[in-house]
Amino acid sequence: MKDLLPEDGQHLLHGVVPTIWSFTALDDVAAAFGRHGRIAFQFSGGRDSTAALYLLRRYWDQMTVYHLDTGDQFPETRAVVEAVERDVPIVRIHSDVASLRNLHGMPSDVVPVDNQEFGALVSGKVIKIQGRYDCCARALMFPMHDRMRADGITLLVRGQRDDEYASPPLRSGDAAGGFEVLYPVQSWTGADVSAYLVERGLPIAQFYAKGVRRAPECMGCTAWWDEGRARYLREHYPEHHAVYMRRMADIKNEIGQQIGWLHTEMEN
Ligand code: SF4
Repeated sequence: MKDLLPEDGQHLLHGVVPTIWSFTALDDVAAAFGRHGRIAFQFSGGRDSTAALYLLRRYWDQMTVYHLDTGDQFPETRAVVEAVERDVPIVRIHSDVASLRNLHGMPSDVVPVDNQEFGALVSGKVIKIQGRYDCCARALMFPMHDRMRADGITLLVRGQRDDEYASPPLRSGDAAGGFEVLYPVQSWTGADVSAYLVERGLPIAQFYAKGVRRAPECMGCTAWWDEGRARYLREHYPEHHAVYMRRMADIKNEIGQQIGWLHTEMEN
C-alpha cells in the first residue's frame, strides 16, 4: 500500500500495522451446538448410541441425555445404560410396552387385516396383531417425541448410521418437525462402532458378539424377525424363548389363515 500511495497520501498509513487474520472453520458438531440452546442426546443403550455419546464427550455439559425405557428391556441393555450413567447423568422416560401390546396387539412384521384392531371388530378375532412400526411408535417414538417437545428441545442427537437404511429418512443437519438432527456416526459401519467401543473399553451388550444383528429393544417383542433374536433367547433366556415361540406360532397361524384367502382367490 505504501508503494501505491502518492507522497501526500502516506499519512493515511500512519499507525497501521501488518495484521494476519486467521479463520477457523467450526466442525459440524460445534456449529450445530452453536445454533441451539436446548439439545437432547437420545441414548438407546445400543452400540451406535454409546459410540456417538462418547464421541461427543466434550459437549456433555451442553446437552441432556435421555433414555426411553419401555419396561421390557433386556438386562444387557439395562446394564449398559447403568454403566454409562456412572459417567453422565441420564434422564429416563418410561413407557409400558406390555400394556400397549395388550391393547393394540402383538407386534409383527406381517399383519393380517383381520387381526388389526379395527379388523378384529369385524372378524371377531381374539388375537390382535399390530405392525412393528406402529408398536415402536407407540412405545418408543411418541413418548420420546412428546418429552422433547415438552422440554423445548430443538436439536436431536442420535447414533444413527446410514447403512441401516436403504435411504435414510434424514441425514445429519436436516430439519423436520421443528427439530434439527445431528448424527455424529452416520457414515460409520457397525464394525467401526464396535472397534471404537472396544478400543476405549466402553460398555457394549454381549448380544452383538452372539450374532444378533441389531440391538433388540424389548424382550417380549414378536417382530423384527431379521434381528436374529430367537437363537439368542434360546441360549440365554430359555423361558422367554418358550413364550416367544408360542406367540410366534399364534402369529404364524393367523397370517396363514389370511394367506389362505389369497391362495383361494388366486386359484379362481
Ligand atoms: S421393539 Fe417390538 S415390542 Fe418393543 S416397541 Fe418395538 S415393536 Fe414393540
